[in-house]
Amino acid sequence: MSLKNFYILGEGSNTLFLSHTAPVIIQPKFMGIEIKEDENFYFITAGSGENWHQLVTYCVNNGYAGLENLALIPGSVGAAPIQNIGAYGVEISDVIDAVYWYELATQHLHKFSKEQCQFAYRDSIFKQQLRDKGIITKVILKLPKVWQANISYQGLDLLDTDPTVEQVYQRVIEVRQAKLPDPKFKPNAGSFFKNPVVDLKTYQRLAQQYPNMPAYVQANKEVKLAAGWLIEQAGFKGIKKNGVGVHDKQALVLVNHGDGSGEAIYQLALEINQKVYEKFGIYLQPEVRIVASNGFIGNGEFHG
Ligand SMILES: Cc1cc2nc3c(=O)[nH]c(=O)nc-3n(C[C@H](O)[C@H](O)[C@H](O)COP(=O)(O)OP(=O)(O)OC[C@H]3O[C@@H](n4cnc5c(N)ncnc54)[C@H](O)[C@@H]3O)c2cc1C
Repeated sequence: MSLKNFYILGEGSNTLFLSHTAPVIIQPKFMGIEIKEDENFYFITAGSGENWHQLVTYCVNNGYAGLENLALIPGSVGAAPIQNIGAYGVEISDVIDAVYWYELATQHLHKFSKEQCQFAYRDSIFKQQLRDKGIITKVILKLPKVWQANISYQGLDLLDTDPTVEQVYQRVIEVRQAKLPDPKFKPNAGSFFKNPVVDLKTYQRLAQQYPNMPAYVQANKEVKLAAGWLIEQAGFKGIKKNGVGVHDKQALVLVNHGDGSGEAIYQLALEINQKVYEKFGIYLQPEVRIVASNGFIGNGEFHG
């Protein structure tokens, strides 16, 4: 268990607090949006304290296309590169030009190029080597002036072949609202677990036993499985326990039904992980950051 005595908080939508007491909270509030352009691109600079969805809406309303698939993802601009937010076939890494990161130990502001951010699926250098060592102050997004809609993803493919940016934006919002509980009314942190990526041999072993198992072969021949499907097969979809539960439309989302505690969510997540392991031989990794009263619990020890 790795503990520390402060936690950098954006808007808390990917954070589970285990109790009512918390370590010292640092909440960056760097605000402002600035637009620059060259012949081919718009460069959108946004302070890390800005709200992500409001930034997406601002861009859609002002003709800067490219963020619409990432509409309605809760949280701040500063947290978005941390886990390389993604939805409907787009990740923020597709449009990042640079990230400004203030190093606490040296008090220096560093500029990271997209390559230096080491983006991967729900991952970046800020979540790995640089975790808890600094604060993202602003992000620069690079949006091409020649835009092409990305509507290959299930749900968006119902749109016309040549939709406008606004139509894609509205459709993403509709699909998300139909599938995901609104955290304002049903507290949740979105996907609680990451989709596990397994080697080909593991996949083949499982596919023999579960021929209907959803699977997505990656460029490096590893296979991404759907954590929600695994959880559903383990019998947890829709269950309620100690005031918390698993969402009845999306088993990847753990919800607080109103009177549950952070600890109850944590215990449920441990139970799910154990059952999924017993059934499939795979340990899920939480996507959500788990914060105890005296510090942060490292995700790596989750099933320890
Ligand atoms: C209903 C729902 C749907 C969701 N859907 C998606 C989705 O489709 N795709 C997706 O990728 N995610 C999704 N999420 C997860 C969440 O929206 C993102 O992870 C978002 O980026 C979290 O933003 P936040 O400001 O609330 O982060 P927080 O929970 O406050 O923090 C998350 C992490 O970022 C760090 N952090 C925050 N701000 C800074 C900063 N300025 N500098 C350094 N570190 C910082 C924190 O220390 C923490 O480690 C969803 C969440 C919910 C509740």
